[in-house]
Amino acid sequence: MNKYRSTYLNSPIEYLKGVGPARAELLKKELGVFFIGDLLFNYPFRYIDRSKFHLIKDINQEGEMVQLKAKLISYEMIQGKKRKRLSALLKDPSGFIELVWFTGTKWIAESLKEGAEYVVYGRVNIYSGKKSIPHPELELLSVQKTKPSGMAPVYHSTEKLNTRGLDSKARRKLIRNIFEKIRSTDLPENLPDYLREKTKLAPRFEAMQWIHFPTNQKSLKAAIDRIKFEELFYLQLRLLQSNQLRKRTIPGAVFSKVGNYFNTFFQHHLPFELTGAQKRVVKEIRADLGKGVQMNRLLQGDVGSGKTMVALLTMLIAKDNGYQSCMMAPTEILAQQHLESLTSYLKGLGINVAFLSGSVKGKKRKELLHLLAQGDIDILVGTHALIEDPVVFKNLGLAIIDEQHRFGVAQRSKLYTKNKHVTPHILVMTATPIPRTLAMTYYGDLDVSIIDELPPGRKSIKTVHKREKDRDMLIQFIHQEIKKGRQIYIVYPLIQESEKLDLKNLNDGYEMLLQFFPRPQFQMSIVHGKMKNVDKEEEMKRFVEGRTNIMVATTVIEVGVNVPNASVMIIENTERFGLSQLHQLRGRVGRGGEQSFCILMSSNKISKEGKERIATMVRTNNGFEIAEADLKLRGAGDIMGTQQSGSVDFNLVNLVTDSKILETARNIAIKILDKDPLLQSSIHTPILSYSKHVNRIRKDWGMIS
Ligand code: ADP
Ligand code: MG
Repeated sequence: MNKYRSTYLNSPIEYLKGVGPARAELLKKELGVFFIGDLLFNYPFRYIDRSKFHLIKDINQEGEMVQLKAKLISYEMIQGKKRKRLSALLKDPSGFIELVWFTGTKWIAESLKEGAEYVVYGRVNIYSGKKSIPHPELELLSVQKTKPSGMAPVYHSTEKLNTRGLDSKARRKLIRNIFEKIRSTDLPENLPDYLREKTKLAPRFEAMQWIHFPTNQKSLKAAIDRIKFEELFYLQLRLLQSNQLRKRTIPGAVFSKVGNYFNTFFQHHLPFELTGAQKRVVKEIRADLGKGVQMNRLLQGDVGSGKTMVALLTMLIAKDNGYQSCMMAPTEILAQQHLESLTSYLKGLGINVAFLSGSVKGKKRKELLHLLAQGDIDILVGTHALIEDPVVFKNLGLAIIDEQHRFGVAQRSKLYTKNKHVTPHILVMTATPIPRTLAMTYYGDLDVSIIDELPPGRKSIKTVHKREKDRDMLIQFIHQEIKKGRQIYIVYPLIQESEKLDLKNLNDGYEMLLQFFPRPQFQMSIVHGKMKNVDKEEEMKRFVEGRTNIMVATTVIEVGVNVPNASVMIIENTERFGLSQLHQLRGRVGRGGEQSFCILMSSNKISKEGKERIATMVRTNNGFEIAEADLKLRGAGDIMGTQQSGSVDFNLVNLVTDSKILETARNIAIKILDKDPLLQSSIHTPILSYSKHVNRIRKDWGMIS
């Protein structure tokens, strides 16, 4: 993408010295390198320190990367059971080591010189005490001595590249060939001088030289810092600009007043005092709604922090200004719960709340759609059935999406089209806090509000990790809690690939529990994905109404359900759940005034990562802290899913470790756009011309795909 560079660098890769048609083909296929300059933007991922050599006798770790100085004693072609291999024996003052090749053997054998001194680099195998290096990098010591010392770059490679003469060594040579041809003007600077001076960032051209051929650790760090900053700065600039642009060009419904509905509710119907955080967030939202620009706001708040009330108050403002609202949830059960809580909060206010999901059909559906189009429904609650085409509002002014992470960007933008005259305001709410770096990157074009305070009187949930041997105690504990009148969740994992097995686990667990909690003295609900909706709902209902003591379920209860009397969450096979899922599940308890417990059951054999997840859960109740831990364990791509991460493509940046640079880059971008929104000042010319350039390329790409 990054083609801000000279004509030479933009010429086809075939034109580079050392690249013929065959190699060009390979570079295109394997690396997506089409132009000479593309090769420069394929950064090394590691460097070999040329000055340091291992002694063969000191090598004792399988898989270790080593660099040796050794003499080639002999080599031979060996016919193995399955395939031929080339084997060479080398010796240094401390011992012997074997080098092995399975492919390209003929070509390599021809180049080997017995008796010559080599520099060898590669990953060590140790097999019954014998050390060998398969497919090493190999260079005559005499050749290497003539080269500049320092650190040699190692590039991501593929088997094909390695065996067809385009390994790191060969690519180093190609990149040297490029640098022989270019000067700093070939890679024009894209950051203003004042900014580079202030941030002490290296110039673009030097950074490029140093990332490939660092002279020492210091120049390497300077190169990396500069390139990462550039990646993050231009992404942030684009996100912030698109936010600005949207605000300039997309008119939103104007909610200029806070009227009767809001005030009546606030004064007479509000069942509790808002927390400070809720008040602050409502203020932020109100400020947005009156501006006449469309609101796109992300509301992050931990499980139980009271997002529903914020949503409700916002919808009342919409009603006060003559607009309809909708509230969309990812599952039927959750949507149903929203419906129930909204209806009960709004009782006696004369506000018409309706429900729509896939299960609303036939005449009932037709009637509802008619009322909606007439404007007789004020608030429509439902599943993603809300955004389907036949659903037409009279004047939708506000759309609220709960549990954002389950909806894609495309669905969000589909809501924009639900009002022909003005774009509805959008409020997305998520209970899985997104780590700051991810929020800034993936939702950087949204405004963010955070509820960082739980309603008063909540006792923090006690979380413990238990194993099979503790099961007797667990059963006793459940008895004891039921005696106190509490209700219990017991959750089994559900993983798509092994649904059968999971169902068996769940059923076995249910049978086991029946022995300890026999009917009619005890009652249990069971809910899983394979049940019919009506049965599921009946079972849920029995639990919600307190008619059953224990809810045995798969993760279908993960999101949203609210049963304040349930105070124990037991999770089976905890090691099979992700962190954010565990946090969601735990959030089902601790909703009443009682002390709540979360018991994480696991087998004895769990992976290091599984242990880490459980330890995190035991350590903290804080959703933001858990989100950060999750990011470290899984990386950004896995958290956001391919759907969302596709839009952000970093070359060098790692969102787990580069939060500081990201923060700096975003703050600088904000400051610049505050002072000079259209980048018209002459000191910002490099920024303007570079972002124009990048946008043009993005557009071209957009047209292709
Ligand atoms: P979430 O943010 O997870 O959606 P909810 O909106 O479901 O949380 O709220 C969780 C519980 O806390 C509900 O029972 C709600 O009535 C209660 N609640 C919300 N705000 C307050 C408050 N300010 N004071 C006391 N209880 C509150
Ligand atoms: Mg909620």
